[in-house]
Amino acid sequence: MAEKKRVFSGIQPSGRLHIGNYVGAMQNMISLQEEYSCIYGIVDYHAITVSFNPGQMEQSIFDCAVDYIAAGIDPAKSILMIQSTVAGHTELAWILNTITPISWLLRVPTFKEKKQQNPDYVNMGLLDYPVLMAADILLYRAEVVPVGDDQLPHLELTREIVRRFNGLFGVTFPEPKAKIGAVSRILGLDGINKMSKSLDNCIFLNDTKDEMWKKLSTAVTDVRRKRRTDPGNPDECNLFTMHKAFSGKTDIEHCARECRVAGIGCLDCKKILHENMYKILQPIQENAAELRKDRTYVLNALNDGQRRAEEIAAQTMDEVYAKLGIKLYHSRLA
Ligand code: SF4
Repeated sequence: MAEKKRVFSGIQPSGRLHIGNYVGAMQNMISLQEEYSCIYGIVDYHAITVSFNPGQMEQSIFDCAVDYIAAGIDPAKSILMIQSTVAGHTELAWILNTITPISWLLRVPTFKEKKQQNPDYVNMGLLDYPVLMAADILLYRAEVVPVGDDQLPHLELTREIVRRFNGLFGVTFPEPKAKIGAVSRILGLDGINKMSKSLDNCIFLNDTKDEMWKKLSTAVTDVRRKRRTDPGNPDECNLFTMHKAFSGKTDIEHCARECRVAGIGCLDCKKILHENMYKILQPIQENAAELRKDRTYVLNALNDGQRRAEEIAAQTMDEVYAKLGIKLYHSRLA
């Protein structure tokens, strides 16, 4: 039987996860587990490129693992590991740094955005973030990367780095391809910005049903629907994108049709969405509550993930060191 293609995706341990994370990445990651051999890394090295609280990091990593397992990442099927526990990530990142022109990094749009958001914390790690991301993927020779559309420039950069490495040292890495989920991105409740904790425009995975409604009821919809009698355009409405992620076909079609003829008001439409969203998030919340009581299970899953990831990483790094002409001196061969 042909070996399954490998998938890598990184998960930022940046506090409570929101439905933007769920729709933009998690749903896709969960569905890929049957068809692919998946490696999911909790990317703590990425998380420290912006200002962070060391006193909360351990808990954030644990919470992140809990949320992903609760949502459907199965540690028996997929490798769930913490990036900083597998040394190959930074070893390979350094090597890739030496072949990546700075000009490639300066043009990455997220660097410009993060510079604006954190003007007092523009560090080398922030600029180098895409090279570390390339190392994350290439360490496991992943061929498929589930991404939101905002991550596409990063993946293109990884592909450029692969072409350069393979051209300089001989074919070593495959060029990874993006796998965009059915709904690639939902915006924040303001309907303008990316959903983000720092912008206070999120619905969190562990919000209560009441909290969800409070947020949804005031969320921005198609701005042309000023009155109940104004017809709207679901394609211009962020709430409708949420419907596509959480509602069934019948509700999606009903809301789209009735929105266009002002048959339903936005509040009715939001009520349908609210019920559907809660139906999906409630079991995840229940699973998470159970997992929090079983800390050993979560930590064992991460330890096992580290061990399995290290095996793959060691094979890649041996080949990389051989290609660079330094394998003989590498401690792995001692
Ligand atoms: Fe959006 Fe629904 Fe309002 Fe239409 S009816 S604008 S899809 S919230």
